[in-house]
Amino acid sequence: MSAREMSVPCAVVRREDLVPLCPHCETELPETYMRRPRGRFGIGRGFVFFGPHCRKVLGFAAQWYPFIPG
Ligand SMILES: [Zn+2]
Repeated sequence: MSAREMSVPCAVVRREDLVPLCPHCETELPETYMRRPRGRFGIGRGFVFFGPHCRKVLGFAAQWYPFIPG
């Protein structure tokens, strides 16, 4: 029995060999764009991630931990 067959439900498997697909336009995402959202009081906390093709938002991230992009 291989290690994959013994994997537990809800396990997160690291796959650096697969390219994610955009949920909006289903284009491959070899890279994802990110920027800081801008609000009334200047540049906000956290990041917004969006697709390079359609620029639709993929998600948000709060900077709760040291996060070094790139
Ligand atoms: Zn897209």
